[in-house]
Amino acid sequence: MKILFASSEAHPLIKTGGLADVSGSLPRAILSQRQDIRLVIPAYRQVLERAGNLALAAYLKLDGVPNPVRILSGRLPGGNVKLYLVDSPDHFDRAGNPYTTRAGNEWTDNAERFAVFCRAIHALAVNAAGLDWEPDVVHCNDWQTGLVPAMLADSDTAPASIFTIHNLAYQGQYDWKTFNALGLPPEWWSMDAMEFHNSFSFIKGGLVFADWLTTVSPTYAEEICTSEFGCGLEGLLGHRRNKLTGILNGIDYSEWNPGSDLLVPIQYNRRSLFHKRENKHAILEHFALPRKEDAPLFIIISRLVEQKGIDLVIDILPYLVKQGAQLAVLGSGDKAIETALRKAAREYREHVGIQIGYDETLAHLLEAGGDLLLMPSRFEPCGLNQIYSLRYGTVPVVRSTGGLADTVVDTTPETLEAKTATGFCFQTASTAALWNAVQRAIKQYREPEGWNRIIDTGMRQDFSWKRSAERYIDLYRQVLDG
Ligand code: ADP
Repeated sequence: MKILFASSEAHPLIKTGGLADVSGSLPRAILSQRQDIRLVIPAYRQVLERAGNLALAAYLKLDGVPNPVRILSGRLPGGNVKLYLVDSPDHFDRAGNPYTTRAGNEWTDNAERFAVFCRAIHALAVNAAGLDWEPDVVHCNDWQTGLVPAMLADSDTAPASIFTIHNLAYQGQYDWKTFNALGLPPEWWSMDAMEFHNSFSFIKGGLVFADWLTTVSPTYAEEICTSEFGCGLEGLLGHRRNKLTGILNGIDYSEWNPGSDLLVPIQYNRRSLFHKRENKHAILEHFALPRKEDAPLFIIISRLVEQKGIDLVIDILPYLVKQGAQLAVLGSGDKAIETALRKAAREYREHVGIQIGYDETLAHLLEAGGDLLLMPSRFEPCGLNQIYSLRYGTVPVVRSTGGLADTVVDTTPETLEAKTATGFCFQTASTAALWNAVQRAIKQYREPEGWNRIIDTGMRQDFSWKRSAERYIDLYRQVLDG
């Protein structure tokens, strides 16, 4: 099959979150199953700097876009996946991240930027770019690609479309004036199309018009059909439930493997777990925290936003400190959360370390040296860090929601005995429930036999992409077979 995979970010070229990990590794896994899959992303400044050799593949004259858009072609670094970059300097060649300025504000022209991206994807999808390559399936991801299924829906000869929801909370919503300025078909401003509570919703283009919908874990697929998690779109999703599949994300064990991870000081595996201690010391040194031999070290690597439940962690800090535990946090996001964490680090100098920012190497070190990962998300479509943690022998403490519920097995006397326990789970997004799980985890940490068993079981789990890639390929076939 020929598959065009469209995404607004892809590791290692550009990353703000889990979408980039998926877009960097799923196409590679699908390619290795001998499918002709090609990736298309915007040519952000950072992408152009990192992409290596590129060739000019096409010039596109797109409706409503004054300057021609170039399609550059190359390879996604670290593999052999063919890469197309949508090069429209007016829209993508600027400092900052794909969605926000350096100060963290949304780009004011995001609707226009991603409409241009969608128009370019559409041109590639219908073989109108002169590349002589006609995909059978276009696989779109998140709201930034949401217009594409709507653009393809009109034609019988267009490729099939799949739309994957990585996070339903981000919808790409704009007012009438913005919609009007985009020059899109006026009939799209309708409840049956992309109008949503008097605004224009990019994501609805995917949800309404794609031939099939997927999301990134089976539990999240159920959850988004309910009012608690559906962000107002639960009615529509419930209506499309028979064309909505949850496929768990995999992880790239060639990047996230403690036995071969060159980003950490000491590599280790299940049989040389004692080396984790040296990595732990490196973390403590990095955060200027004192060594306390019996203190469990909790880690957090996260966007600091309400979704991730970091406020709950801030609430339990006094108790955590009283128990002698330490916490190292890497993340950035909401200014109020950043400030609260900085304050905590000043107040509990020996126990709490914080680094605001994005740091790939430090993320690997934290996984390699931490004892426990905290991930008390209010919702979590899949979540990747808990899966990395399992492989690194860092025991996850998670809220049972979305992909967290699908990947972590709570420790009980029964699961410990059966050697299925891999972490600690709690149900309610409350301080009390989190604290209860953390206390259970600390108690277990101090009982080495059971603790080592939990680590060992976690490290044996296999969440590689192969199985998930096969499921996507089956789905492409199924959709093509009508
Ligand atoms: P989300 O996509 O909601 O941010 P995921 O758990 O799916 O959450 O993916 C987050 C990805 O981003 C992981 O690979 C994680 O290691 C990485 N990440 C998040 N914050 C940081 C940070 N501050 N520095 C380095 N990596 C980070």
